[in-house]
Amino acid sequence: MSNCAVLTPIKVCATCKQKFPATTEYFYKRAASPGGLQSQCKKCIKAWKRSSAGKKSQKKSNQSPGHKVSAKKYRQTHKIETAERNWARRQTIVGHLRDVFSNMKKRCYDPNDRNYKYYGGRGIKVCFTSDEFVHYVVDDLQEDPIGLTIDRIDNDGNYERGNIRFVSQAVNNQNRRSYKKKKKK
Ligand SMILES: [Zn+2]
Repeated sequence: MSNCAVLTPIKVCATCKQKFPATTEYFYKRAASPGGLQSQCKKCIKAWKRSSAGKKSQKKSNQSPGHKVSAKKYRQTHKIETAERNWARRQTIVGHLRDVFSNMKKRCYDPNDRNYKYYGGRGIKVCFTSDEFVHYVVDDLQEDPIGLTIDRIDNDGNYERGNIRFVSQAVNNQNRRSYKKKKKK
């Protein structure tokens, strides 16, 4: 009996911690593991496969190659839809930029605008046409300005190429504050 135990090493299941002879009767083969057997006993693996997590995992690994193919197919058949969606998104951005542009123009050229004194009143100009502005932001800056506010990098500079960026309202306020501090000196 003791000889037998030496000849047949005992393996402890990593899950149920029960001792079994390290044979394929109790453990599934796994070439990559030390001893060529899986660390869990057959009973535990069967139980895991029946569990919902095990079922999910098996489904995933079974689906994997087919899933990739169908994702590719999906992209192919939906190419036009994606293009349309991108186009719609761009239209939304363009629409937003037209609003940004018209407000920018008002601040700089309309003395009745409540912010004119900080912009036009200080000689700040808009060095774009509406189309140039949209083109610059979308194609050159490649910015998605939605949810952000336009900011001039140099606060004394114009709305022009190289001097505009889009920042969150918080950052914009911070810049204004530091500008005011600088002015006081
Ligand atoms: Zn076990």
